[in-house]
Amino acid sequence: MSLAPQMTIGAEPLTTERLLEVINPATTEVIGHAPDAGQLELDHAVACARKAFPIWKATSHAQRRERLNAFAKRMVEHVDELAALFTLEHGRPLAMAKEEILGAAFWIRGIGQLEIPTEIVEETETRRVEVHHEPLGVVCALVPWNFPVLLAAWKISHALITGNTIVLKPSPFTPLTTLRLGELTHDIFPAGVLNIISGGDHLGPLMTAHKGFAKISFTGSTATGRRIMETAAKDLKRITLELGGNDAAIVLPDVDVDAIAMKLFMGAFFNSGQVCVACKRLYIHEDIYDRVRDKLHELALTMPIGDGMQPGTLFGPIQNLPQYRRVLQMRDEARAAGLVLLEGAAVPEQGYFMPLTLVDNPPDDARVVTEEAFGPLLPLLRFSDIDDVIARANNSEYGLAGAVWSNDVDQALAIAKRLETGTVWINQNLESSPAVPLGGHKQSGIGVENGVAGLMEFTQAKSIFVPKSA
Ligand code: NAD
Repeated sequence: MSLAPQMTIGAEPLTTERLLEVINPATTEVIGHAPDAGQLELDHAVACARKAFPIWKATSHAQRRERLNAFAKRMVEHVDELAALFTLEHGRPLAMAKEEILGAAFWIRGIGQLEIPTEIVEETETRRVEVHHEPLGVVCALVPWNFPVLLAAWKISHALITGNTIVLKPSPFTPLTTLRLGELTHDIFPAGVLNIISGGDHLGPLMTAHKGFAKISFTGSTATGRRIMETAAKDLKRITLELGGNDAAIVLPDVDVDAIAMKLFMGAFFNSGQVCVACKRLYIHEDIYDRVRDKLHELALTMPIGDGMQPGTLFGPIQNLPQYRRVLQMRDEARAAGLVLLEGAAVPEQGYFMPLTLVDNPPDDARVVTEEAFGPLLPLLRFSDIDDVIARANNSEYGLAGAVWSNDVDQALAIAKRLETGTVWINQNLESSPAVPLGGHKQSGIGVENGVAGLMEFTQAKSIFVPKSA
């Protein structure tokens, strides 16, 4: 396993003299190094991607899909190596790291199946009007650290199947698996179609300001999303922004508490709570509040947390030091304010670990309720009235996803329709599919990924008026 993978630019490996250190959050040890690219390497990557664009644009959908399938196959062939690298740099337990690699391969195949149809929007005796969708050019793709491989796979597959070329940058906290993925593609895509570069905090702003890009596809925090939109405005780059969320789940009194407890638990704590669409506010009807709270606390006390390389571990550390400090600060602030914290199993002393923690019915204006913790810290909130709880759930600057739990699916659907979010799950959570658009209301984003609607964002509509006779 290479712990110093190189960048991929024009289907060739490239590194830099200066390297970034990559830390294993389970041990806090430096476990690898990544190139620290600057303007020079960025210009080179953009030039390669621009050179490849007309050639790739001219390929057929079937040819692009065939290359994407070859990429997915290569990922599956290397799943053990990629998953081990993933766990070392990310902290997520090995079995789940493997799921992300296989999930990314599944996604690449799934997006490759989608095609934007050419529409005939008007047909008369004298003319036909066709709407085609053309690729934009070179895509600048910026990926966060929480699902580094899956989200890279989304961006790569969207960009390439629609005929664009791409320069992708992983988060400086989790660059290794993505760089290694790039190394595996040198004989798969024509030179310059897929470029992967890495660098420190300076590189993202250099990329978004670069005039060679036609579009920015960004997943990350709302604060960064705002900055990117400002920069993109200068030359009207197209943008898709998948941003933060503070998702509410509403549990009605008719549920079978024992049957759904584990699903509620994983919906909030999977990946140690570092999921954009995780439940981050759990509203529980007062009739069952105590039972649900006690059951979730019981689960938290039994969950094995530790180094993801150890078999049997289900929850890893918080992925990086700034995020660890942020979540600890939110927890300590809640404790200092006199809120009741229910902690789960003890955690290792070394590493960025924090017990899975429930906050017992904090006030609606507590920071732990109003802000996205993005870690293993979940507020449980009591409610009695449906209209009131819907208003409380919607009282957020975010609107990414939400969930409703009830044995009465019709009632749950009526509530789902009133939630101001891009996705709502009924009696399930964290579900997604290559065919289903994902995006956020309000400050959770602009545009969508996935589905034909997601592909459209990587294209320009072009209307052609065709006369019936010359
Ligand atoms: P982040 O915004 O700090 O960084 C995301 C990426 O952007 C990284 O590659 C980073 O290096 C780069 N970046 C940072 N500042 C930049 C700038 N000024 N210009 C250009 N690029 C810049 O986010 P993060 O901490 O890596 O990720 C966590 C956040 O992402 C959470 O808020 C989470 O909810 C959100 N998220 C959203 C989705 C979604 O689909 N909506 C999915 C996953 C994560």
